[in-house]
Amino acid sequence: MALAAAAERVAAEFEYSAQDVQRGVKEFIRQMDEGLGKQGATMSQIPTYVTAVPNGTEKGLYMAVDLGGTNFRVCSIQLHGNSTFSLTQSKVKIPQELMVAKTSKELFSFLAKQIETFLKTHHNEHYVNHVERRRRGSYIGASFHDEEVFHLGFTFSFPVQQSGINKGTLIRWTKGFDIKDTIGKDVCALLQKEIDLLHLPVKVAALVNDTVGTLMARSYTSPGKTGTLLGAIFGTGTNGAYVEKLDRVTKLKKGGSKAAGDVDDSTGEMIINTEWGSFDNQLSVLPSTSYDKSLDAESNNPGIQMFEKRVSGMFLGEILRRAIVDLIKDPSVPLFSDEHSNQNDIHSTTNIHDQSALWNQWGLDTSFLSIASGDTSAGLKVTRQTLDNDYGVSAASAEDAEAVRLIASAIGKRAARLSAVAIAAVILSTGKLSHPTDIATTNDAKLEVNEDEIVDVGVDGSLVEFYPNFEEFIREALRDVPEIGVRGERRVRIGIAKDGSGVGAALIALVADRAG
Ligand code: ADP
Repeated sequence: MALAAAAERVAAEFEYSAQDVQRGVKEFIRQMDEGLGKQGATMSQIPTYVTAVPNGTEKGLYMAVDLGGTNFRVCSIQLHGNSTFSLTQSKVKIPQELMVAKTSKELFSFLAKQIETFLKTHHNEHYVNHVERRRRGSYIGASFHDEEVFHLGFTFSFPVQQSGINKGTLIRWTKGFDIKDTIGKDVCALLQKEIDLLHLPVKVAALVNDTVGTLMARSYTSPGKTGTLLGAIFGTGTNGAYVEKLDRVTKLKKGGSKAAGDVDDSTGEMIINTEWGSFDNQLSVLPSTSYDKSLDAESNNPGIQMFEKRVSGMFLGEILRRAIVDLIKDPSVPLFSDEHSNQNDIHSTTNIHDQSALWNQWGLDTSFLSIASGDTSAGLKVTRQTLDNDYGVSAASAEDAEAVRLIASAIGKRAARLSAVAIAAVILSTGKLSHPTDIATTNDAKLEVNEDEIVDVGVDGSLVEFYPNFEEFIREALRDVPEIGVRGERRVRIGIAKDGSGVGAALIALVADRAG
């Protein structure tokens, strides 16, 4: 088969039609509702106990720490009250031995020490004053001189069972951490205890999920006074957090006061962490090519995170790699073929180096999709150079590069359209477009959108930031949903939200402080 035709055939497998989008949205809304009603649903819909989003007028000095993997980050954030902030931060690598320590104390006392060092370095006056007061005996704990205490948001990116805004027990460690003693314990209390032992003027005010942080950061920095509805991450993984009506979170009531934990019902709203990476794990509506199936089967968590496996940066490169390798192995398709060789062995009849990362699982980085899809150089020179320099494919032809570009673009576009399914479902299920508009209109006056009609969405992650036209593909798919249509799509403002675990976490500490 001619190369171009073969590439078109593969690209067509990734088409995700308007009807597919509509079916996807309907099912997404159904699974969102299910998750609000019961524990253990496909989409977890985790109540975060955060009950308000900021509007940009918030002021004050807050702290944030982030334990996410290899590093521990400590920041202080000055909120200026005009949608801007200044951030001071330090970062330290977690010593390997502490990640697998015998007791929680070893790790958490290390974390508290980093907070102390940070305060001495960046807020010495405050630190000295506080310690002086303590020595004179005029200061008796965090609740006494509350205005002197830094409220801190703790971003802890491991699975926790949260039961209050600053309460959550560790379910299990991931990412190389393994301290048995911590399982089942409240990580905020563990950190607070070590902070108190050092007499630091710091209160762990909120346990923060990074997606919720993204929502808060966007809501503070976004133009206009209407709060942000949704924060969404399209990076290594994908997830979203949105503002829900508290009485729709029926599982909080069903479980009685114990499951409800400490709910502040003053705003009538609560931010829900959807954990939408696991949307449709049962594959009732998600598309599934042979490449999706083999990727999943050979992953370390088959059958899990099925939405994420079609959408996020960790997986898109691997989908493309599998599609490319399939074509290379098809003797009738001349992809990367070496005209000067007559041998039958695949590795010697192609221009691909034996050691090429293309032969290895996870060997192709998703950034390559951005390079290929966005390549406007003559003869796709940039793509060919990248294939040569990074992937051991020497002398790829312009036709080779075009075939790869076509498939890469199809995979990226499908990811964006699936992302739109999630965004559309949140917008529709929360009734944010509740005033139906004439969607068929092409009348410009009717298409004009007022500031108070804007539905604000904050996004973060390399995929949405760097993949060419990712937002435009999302918008196209939003227009494909009849309940949104052309005008509804115009009402959606999508903006990058940076630094959820810094300013976002600080803002959660702030709202926790106010609610408390
Ligand atoms: P994280 O989500 O881990 O905080 P990022 O938002 O930077 O970090 O996402 C990293 C993921 O994005 C990786 O899977 C990587 O392959 C992918 N990625 C990095 N650069 C790009 C790019 N230019 N285009 C598309 N994907 C990218």
